[in-house]
This record gives sequence, structure tokens and C-alpha cells, in this order.
Amino acid sequence: MNHSPETQCAQGARRLHADPQADSAIVPPIVYSATFGAADAQDFAQMASQPRHSRYYTRYGNPLHEQVAAQLVALEGVADGSHDALVTASGMGAISLVLLGLLKAGDHVIAQGNHYMGSAKHFSELLPRFGVRCSLVDQTDLRAWERAFEPETRLVMTETPVNPTCALTDLGAVAARARAHGALSVCDNTFACPINQQPLAHGIDIVVHSATKYLGGHHDLTAGAVIAPKDLIDELWKTQICLGATLSPMDAWLLLRGMRTLALRVRQHNASALTLASWLEQQPQVERVFYPGLVSHPQHTLAKAQMKGFGGVMNIAIKGGYAAASRFVHALQLPRQAVSLGGVESLVVHAAAMWRGTMNDAQMQVCGIAPNGVRLSVGIEGVQDLQADLAQALAAA
Ligand SMILES: *Cc1c(COP(=O)(O)O)cnc(C)c1O
Repeated sequence: MNHSPETQCAQGARRLHADPQADSAIVPPIVYSATFGAADAQDFAQMASQPRHSRYYTRYGNPLHEQVAAQLVALEGVADGSHDALVTASGMGAISLVLLGLLKAGDHVIAQGNHYMGSAKHFSELLPRFGVRCSLVDQTDLRAWERAFEPETRLVMTETPVNPTCALTDLGAVAARARAHGALSVCDNTFACPINQQPLAHGIDIVVHSATKYLGGHHDLTAGAVIAPKDLIDELWKTQICLGATLSPMDAWLLLRGMRTLALRVRQHNASALTLASWLEQQPQVERVFYPGLVSHPQHTLAKAQMKGFGGVMNIAIKGGYAAASRFVHALQLPRQAVSLGGVESLVVHAAAMWRGTMNDAQMQVCGIAPNGVRLSVGIEGVQDLQADLAQALAAA
């Protein structure tokens, strides 16, 4: 692939559509079949023994899965045939697959103190239950990463920019340390997406995605993906067919459709979010805006070095504490109050309201959830409309 991301997005699925049984359809057909017939006994034996066959049984593979995987490998910037991908029924399906597929009792993992909630639960509860020890470090502190390595460290987990604070992890530095200690490095690339950040180019071994977010981009599907060197993908596939987080052919088709406009959408998310973040931090009702694209972000230099764009998600600290943040969120007309992010519609979440029932104040502080913090996922609406709406909501805060 020597094409630009725009061309890869627009045409990639069609160019990957090298199925000899394909007709002249521009759009690949949805192969809605749970199982596939063999030509004869010899063919059946071959289908049953070949790993990752795309026409055997849909939990094992499906032509649509294969096409989504190839498109993701190309978008993550590895075109030399060294890498492959697996698609899963959700982002958590992908993360669980990597952790359960590669770790065993006695192993040690280093992860961030801050992670997407589902991942965090793996490190605090699930993995320890299976005899895997986990050390959690401040993602911004390279010495803390270095100190955490042990002889049994098998895997290092990163997520950058992180949910919901938009703090960053230095991917090149962490990947190099992991390699030096013989551990595999993983990056959850959901918030950036491959248009803005390609972790493999920084030495990361395995990329995971919640494709529910930017990759799908329309808040209509749930999906996940793992992109890794072929030998690891082969190994992970054996676990995947046991875990069974199989992506439905319909959602795979929707994801393929969503990815055609990924580069175009992300360009708009990046531009609108930067405009709004810069404007918001000038407003008297705003205490602070955390967005990697702002010069005021404590890791802006790192953001410029490892990201090509800064995404659509920001964290806004509203003056006046929990009550003011709550009034602000309720006054917004355009961004809907809903979890998730990365779609064409703007969405907003008052994180402290979301977690108040499940976390105490100390836990929320560790996760960077301030009482007055508002996570905004900027969509692709007219930026002037969003700014006017934010302005009236700030006035109501
Ligand atoms: C949403 C999300 C996930 C989980 O993805 P699902 O598709 O909801 O399972 C994992 N990591 C990050 C950073 C996310 O935003």
C-alpha cells in the first residue's frame, strides 16, 4: 500500500475484494452464513484443518472479517505482509482476547493506573484471579515504567490518549523498554485511531481497537480489532475461537462501510476539536481544557511527535464544581448526553455523574475523574453551531 490514507479508506475494501467468486459488485456482499459447504471429502478435511479459513464456520472466520482485517492492517501502516488482524464483537472482546490469549499464571503485566474501565478491571480483578500479577504505573512517568519491570514481565499495556483525561504515553520509549526486557507491548489506539497515530511505527507489538468508536464512526455498531505480527495473530486466533467474541457479518459490513470515510471524518474531528478547545480555554467559565492539540497540554510536545492529528475528544473542567458541570451538560442542545465517542454526532459525558454510583472519591481521583470534568467527543456538525451551543451552555453553567 503506497496510497494515501484517504485512498486506502475509499478504495481499500474494493481492492481487497479479490475473491474469485466475486462478481462485479463495487461493494463487497455481506456473507451472511454461519457455515460453508465443502466441495468434497478432501476439501472438507482441508477446511477443517486450515487455521483462519474464511469459509468454514463464521466463528472461525468469514470473508467480511478477512476484508476488515486487511483494511485495518493497511491503515495501521504495515503493508509488507508481516502483520495481520483479527476482528472481534467489541473492543473489550479484542482486549480480553489479547490478555487471555497471551498470558498465563505466574506472568507479570505492567499497565497504566488509568485505563478504559473494562481494561482496568482486567488488571485489578480478572487477571489476578488467574494468577497474573499486575503493576500499575503513572503513564506519564518513564522511570515508573522502567522500575516496574520484573523477570516475569510478559506484557506491557498502554492506552494513549487515555480515557477520559487525554494524558499520553510515550509509545516509542515504552515499546523500547518492553523489548529490552523481552516483554510484548500493546497499545489501545481507540482514541487516536490509525489516521492520527500508528503505534506499530513506534515499535509497539500489538494494537487493539474499539472499532465501535472512530473506525465505525456512526454510533451504530459494536466491534473490536487486534493488529499484530502474523505469528501472534495465529496464536491469538486459537484462543479467539474458544472465547467466541465473533463479529457478526452485518456489523463487519457496516464497519467496512464506516471505514471508507474514516480519513475524511477524522480530518473534520481534528479540525473542529482544535478550534473548539482553543476557544473554550479562553472562556471565563472554563477552568481548564485538556486536549493534546493545545499548547497548554502538559505533553503537547510528545503529542506532536507521535500523533499526526489530535482527535475529537477533550476534557473540559468547568468552574464551579460538580453542580456547574452538571448544569453545563444539561444545557447543551447539540451534543447528546451519552457514553461512547468518535462518531459523527457530538456526545458529552459528565464523567463524575457516570461513575458516582460505582467508585468512591479516591478511586475517581486515581482515574483522573474530577467532579467538574466534562468529556466532549466533537462530531462533524458545523463547528460554528457547536461553538454557539457551547457558549449558551456555558452561560447557563
Ligand atoms: C470503548 C472503548 C473500549 C471498549 O470498546 P467496546 O467496543 O465498547 O467493547 C476500549 N478502550 C477504549 C479506549 C474505549 O474507548
